Amino acid sequence: MANYLIPLSNDDKEPETFEFPEKTRHQVPNFMTKFRCIGSDCLDTCCNGWNIFLDKKTHYAYKNSDDPEVSAVAKHSIKTLKSNRDAAAFSKMKLKKNGNCPLMTDCGLCKVHKNLGEEFLSKTCNTFPRRTIKAGDITYLTAMMACPEATRLCLEDEHAVQISDNPEDVLSHATNSKSLNVRKAPKFSDRSKQIQFMMLEIFGDHSLTLGEQFTAAHITLEKFKTHETPLELPQLTALSKSIKESCTQLRDALDPAQAAFFQFKTFNLVFFTEHTKWRENFKALIEKAKAGIHYQTNDGALAVGTYLAAKRDIFLPYDNDNRYLLSNFIKNELLGTLEIFIPGNPNAGDQLNEIAARVSAIRFLLICLSAHDYDGFGKQAYIDCISMVCRSIQHNPNVVAGISNYFSQKDSDLRVVNALLMS
Ligand code: SF4
Repeated sequence: MANYLIPLSNDDKEPETFEFPEKTRHQVPNFMTKFRCIGSDCLDTCCNGWNIFLDKKTHYAYKNSDDPEVSAVAKHSIKTLKSNRDAAAFSKMKLKKNGNCPLMTDCGLCKVHKNLGEEFLSKTCNTFPRRTIKAGDITYLTAMMACPEATRLCLEDEHAVQISDNPEDVLSHATNSKSLNVRKAPKFSDRSKQIQFMMLEIFGDHSLTLGEQFTAAHITLEKFKTHETPLELPQLTALSKSIKESCTQLRDALDPAQAAFFQFKTFNLVFFTEHTKWRENFKALIEKAKAGIHYQTNDGALAVGTYLAAKRDIFLPYDNDNRYLLSNFIKNELLGTLEIFIPGNPNAGDQLNEIAARVSAIRFLLICLSAHDYDGFGKQAYIDCISMVCRSIQHNPNVVAGISNYFSQKDSDLRVVNALLMS
């Protein structure tokens, strides 16, 4: 195990060494070493409602399969793509009217998995929700939170996203697949690793509000644009401390009532109006959120008042005791967007804003839900909200783009980030 230390929270001791591994490494958050698809036990299966693309090899394997069930589905339900076809996305599964994959049995099992074995699954099916990124000689494995089981494990405890510098056997246990899709990211320099260190340290510091954490992360990106040489550990920790202190100075200048109004105005448009066609189970969650804050289209003031009270009396007391839940989610998203850590990446700010957009949307719904089910409000609400928002947004990328545009308005980043995410 290399000396690659990342403090997880305020409670963790400061690292005494700051050395990065020289050789090829696989870095996997702890929860990914436990991930297994739970198949028919999954309450929001990825065999429903997704675009399921088949790679060329799988396409012909299904078409020519000796298994009568698989070949019958292949004959009627696999459509070769007419445009943008390549070996990775060669054809597409035509879903049933209810959105189910035609290969799914009534009890939720996959016919290919059941009759032929896991190794015959297409790359898409065999890979989801794993997200593998190769940055130079370091390979990262994280998960897309659109899978409720991956989300459950990611939120399991405070150490679930701690990165281990894993030996090969742990990686193969974690991936359990030979056909992972691997995305390439630019090689990590020591400065990239230091930005990563700073970011994970900032998002592990629960004395900051979420808004302050994102503000500090933006300032860190700016600072590292101008640092030419890697800093020593004492300089890094001093820099982190001063950035965090500067961010907390905004705290007293912000008004929670105004912030609640701004959050409500933003997400009322996103979730409560009829512009977007959501999936059925997400619609049900939105209805619960609306009921929680007594939402009525003609009385916004009542809803904002209930939202503010729910935030103060139910959501924040729980969230303050369980800051690791959203913190784990953010860290997983950061590790899945490694390009943020590349110094001078002109898109890093926008990529950070996209994560902030997802977090603020999730947090808004959680606050509404806390008012709906105030006795039972807890971790399960976070798991449901995170996985459903991530999955729904995957189908409606314009939604997250719209929210993150707020964050990206020049000169207003800090104000908007804080208004959407402040405590
Ligand atoms: S969403 Fe996750 S747990 Fe559910 S069926 Fe898909 S991979 Fe398995």
